[in-house]
Amino acid sequence: MENIVIIGCGAAGLTAAIYAARANLEPVVITGSLPGGLLTQTTDVENYPGFPDAVNGFDLMFKFQQQAERFGTKMVNDTVTDAELVDGGPHKLTLGSGDVIETKSLIIATGASPRWLGLESEDRLKNHGVSACATCDGAFYRDVPVVVIGGGDTAMEEANFLTKFASKVTVIHRRDKLRASKIMAERALSNDKIEFCWDSVVEEVLGTDSVEGIRVKNLKTGDTTVIDCEGYFSALGHVPSTQIFAGVIDMDDKGFINLKAGSSYTNVAGVFGAGDCADAVYRQAITASGMGCKAAIDAERWLAE
Ligand code: NDP
Repeated sequence: MENIVIIGCGAAGLTAAIYAARANLEPVVITGSLPGGLLTQTTDVENYPGFPDAVNGFDLMFKFQQQAERFGTKMVNDTVTDAELVDGGPHKLTLGSGDVIETKSLIIATGASPRWLGLESEDRLKNHGVSACATCDGAFYRDVPVVVIGGGDTAMEEANFLTKFASKVTVIHRRDKLRASKIMAERALSNDKIEFCWDSVVEEVLGTDSVEGIRVKNLKTGDTTVIDCEGYFSALGHVPSTQIFAGVIDMDDKGFINLKAGSSYTNVAGVFGAGDCADAVYRQAITASGMGCKAAIDAERWLAE
């Protein structure tokens, strides 16, 4: 029987592990399918305190892991396929390998993954021109046209970033008003290399082995047009990775875990939440870390009681 298992090894999970390990709880971290979490998919992180010259996202997460392991964290490279959570514990986790782990307490730090439109053509061309990360893949699209789907801050940030490489960036948005914050929206609207295709939805990503264009439909006129592009960047927000806890752990209508005010407690005693899977608003490395710290301290006190 473990004292504490942490599911997820992004900023939240690994910070929880550092705190739990330093409290001699010998935590076990189940890494999930993306060791290091979403930060490993970015390049430079410029807003994590302590790194005035920026830090590479992958390097930052590697340092987190080294720090967690230094104090005795055990890393398990696997995913959790089933969770039997019991109020007050113990909790039983089944891993992809078939192994079963029992634990007195659990921290869910499973993060979130990019939302997609769900088109067959979009899925087929993933990594062949279809991407959800401009910072990871933008440099592949020098002097060719690309499209960005979405109207939020991520879409504006990605569109602006992509103008460093692409010949032209077209933002496809389903409404005629951006959701993005004023400053981000204005920056994109005033960028000569960005065009906006309003009130429009993507019907199909065109191309056999690589992206050649998209077919979009104008929702007001019903007209269909083809936009030539070699890169397709989805920027539709994120979906929390909480499906396996549905029906047991309290969540909002989008699947973000509801935490008891000011704490990391979920509705199940001995189960705590931290990071993007429980945060629809801030979703920053530093806030995820802070939540991981809170979850480890809450779990430690709960175990002591
Ligand atoms: P948001 O949820 O804010 O925006 C998602 C966008 O995708 C919306 O414009 C939405 O359209 C559109 N969308 C969602 N689903 C579909 C669909 N099925 N078809 C078509 N369009 C769809 O996500 P973001 O990732 O942009 O931002 C998340 C949070 O992170 C926000 O709080 C944001 O402020 C923050 N953030 C801050 C940044 C910064 O300050 N530097 C950078 C990036 C994010 P609609 O508007 O019609 O709903």
